[in-house]
Amino acid sequence: MADIIIMSSTATKKDIDNVIKKIKSFGFDVNYSEGAEKTIIGLIGDTRGVPDEVFKILPGVSNVISILKEYKLASREFRPEDTIIKIGDLKIGGDNLTIIAGPCSIESEQQLLKTAKLVQNSGAKMLRGGAFKPRTSPYSFDGLGFEGLQILREAKRKYNIPVITEVLSPEEVDGVMEVADILQIGTRNMFNYRLLQKVGKVKKPVLLKRAFSATISEFLSCTEYILKGGNKEVILCERGIRTFDSHFTRNTLDLCAVPVLKKETHLPVFVDPSHGTGRRDLILPMSKAAIAAGADGLIIEVHPQPEMALSDGFQSLNPEMFADFMKEIEPVAKAVGKKL
Ligand code: PEP
Ligand code: MN
Repeated sequence: MADIIIMSSTATKKDIDNVIKKIKSFGFDVNYSEGAEKTIIGLIGDTRGVPDEVFKILPGVSNVISILKEYKLASREFRPEDTIIKIGDLKIGGDNLTIIAGPCSIESEQQLLKTAKLVQNSGAKMLRGGAFKPRTSPYSFDGLGFEGLQILREAKRKYNIPVITEVLSPEEVDGVMEVADILQIGTRNMFNYRLLQKVGKVKKPVLLKRAFSATISEFLSCTEYILKGGNKEVILCERGIRTFDSHFTRNTLDLCAVPVLKKETHLPVFVDPSHGTGRRDLILPMSKAAIAAGADGLIIEVHPQPEMALSDGFQSLNPEMFADFMKEIEPVAKAVGKKL
């Protein structure tokens, strides 16, 4: 079973073209990755029944690898170096630690602009804010929709800060993409295959949150859906899973997932300690732990007046707390060699 063709460092363009032609002759799509050291060519599709020898004998081929996993484009075997996602000057992944902050929901222009300014001044590199909110109860505030998106656009323009917001359905992707620098897929939609396929086809990074009931393998397979469509820019986000103790914490933040995912994939791994714990007093300790475990970024809920928030106020920091938070995490980031 041939999944990945590793070209030798002396392979010529003709050798590479030849391999690509061969892969296509089997009816597969090609995923081409030119790394610093070597060129890797992946076969996209069900490769069972494709013998390694077909490729091994071609000139310029150094090795043929089969991946006995349900995901391959996401795997470290496929791409040994970390994927770095660039949004303007912002770099996500590698030795960068990216802090995203903002309210759970966009509630008004004044609320979002105020939050944007304060979190940016404290060092957040990206603004979050939900316009389309998936709520557990159908009677809860479910976001300002397109009006919220326009407010997000205004905050982005005014403070020149990139923004992330959730997209709930395939039909909304095109509209949300006009404003969002990263499309967020929430925990409830991790298994929404049509949505994964849709964002796989667009040119916009995606932050995929782990479903609260998903194993790490399922999380990686859903990531693969996006990569298979051609979108190579996916950020994985651990946001807490359901276990048996929901008395003290909203979810169980699975920090084991961070080093596991860092080992298994080349993609940036983020942690959301706000939803992961559901408690503002746990955000700082769990963020420090997440950074120590190797997280590439954090997504934190911040509200100018958490007690008045229309959603998730109990787990939101106020701007002063967020400013302290940024100071507190700095030495931890430094200790693990990450740039804030
Ligand atoms: C959110 O980040 O606004 C959110 C709804 O998170 P999750 O999908 O992890 O519950
Ligand atoms: Mn929230």
